[in-house]
Amino acid sequence: MTTTTGPAVVITGLTKRFGDLEVLRGIDVRVGAGEVICIIGPSGSGKSTLLRCVNLLEEPDEGSVVVNGVELTHPDVDLDAARRRIGMVFQSFNLFGHLTVLNNLTIAQRKVLGRSKAEAQAVAVENLARVGLADRLNALPSQLSGGQQQRVAIARALSMNPEVMLFDEPTSALDPELVGEVLGVMRQLADEGMTMLVVTHEMQFAREVADKVLFMDGGHVVEEGPPAQVIGDPQHERTQSFLRRVL
Ligand code: ADP
Ligand code: MG
Repeated sequence: MTTTTGPAVVITGLTKRFGDLEVLRGIDVRVGAGEVICIIGPSGSGKSTLLRCVNLLEEPDEGSVVVNGVELTHPDVDLDAARRRIGMVFQSFNLFGHLTVLNNLTIAQRKVLGRSKAEAQAVAVENLARVGLADRLNALPSQLSGGQQQRVAIARALSMNPEVMLFDEPTSALDPELVGEVLGVMRQLADEGMTMLVVTHEMQFAREVADKVLFMDGGHVVEEGPPAQVIGDPQHERTQSFLRRVL
């Protein structure tokens, strides 16, 4: 079933256990088309596991993930096709070190989407221009700064034409002076209407860009709402004490 209206992502009753450890304890999230959701919370609260369940890097134990009307968690779903709908950017960039920037962007387009070399290169160049790196096509990742590498990773994900982009602490591994250029690219994507789920400790970014902030703790969404509410005027003691530590 596909629909073109309604929320882009609907997560319902998601649970995930690793052995005896219940890491997600029934998560419900709705993300409207073009919305940016920022997920905050202490280390170990389940933020990465939630993102990994959304793009099926982890198999949820219970619950469903629906993206633009297609249930990715349906037993009959083609996992590869489902994963293709979602782009992910990690803290650690995960670029192929032996490939040029251009080839980092074309390899999955060619192997997974079956695009021709010329088409894949055209898409790559377009997306590198979007992140301000059209002049670094032939560089190796090691010749780039961390901020540039992360922008390449974003361009690589965009080259697969994802319907939703997931970011897991995309600036946490960067030197402070390189954080701004990556957040700037993410802000631009948000302005262009990309649907985004962003795990971040950058509260200023969350305040300015997020439509909604989720505070997670212990595998639950403890508090959610507009940033002015969750960050500016948190109601739960756990949210308040977390924010005291990070702000
Ligand atoms: P966060 O991203 O909020 O720091 P995670 O989702 O990475 O939290 O982890 C939540 C909990 O799940 C932690 O206690 C972590 O140790 C545990 N965990 C995460 N991945 C695995 C795994 N593959 N196997 C076992 N435990 C895991
Ligand atoms: Mg994490």
